[in-house]
Amino acid sequence: MAYCEEIKDYEDHKWYLVDRKPQKCPHCGKKTIAKAVLGYPLEEDWYNPKIFNIGCLPTPFPEQEKFGCNTCDSRFFKDTKVARAYLNGESDWY
Ligand SMILES: [Zn+2]
Repeated sequence: MAYCEEIKDYEDHKWYLVDRKPQKCPHCGKKTIAKAVLGYPLEEDWYNPKIFNIGCLPTPFPEQEKFGCNTCDSRFFKDTKVARAYLNGESDWY
């Protein structure tokens, strides 16, 4: 059973820690979770529902998100030691 833990409200979207790709989004309930890609997207990627475009600026978190929801912009991060340490305030990542 995959899990999905809400960790943060960031501006207009939510962040989750996951162990693998969620079947559907825990926030909006849509099955529009896609692989997250950083950087300026190619035009074909912009319209590709299998790709979530992060944009040019990395998210301020020690792990780059693995997936994103193309409906509500929720972000999904892999649950790692680095991510946990950061959330617990044990590391000064900034
Ligand atoms: Zn969503």
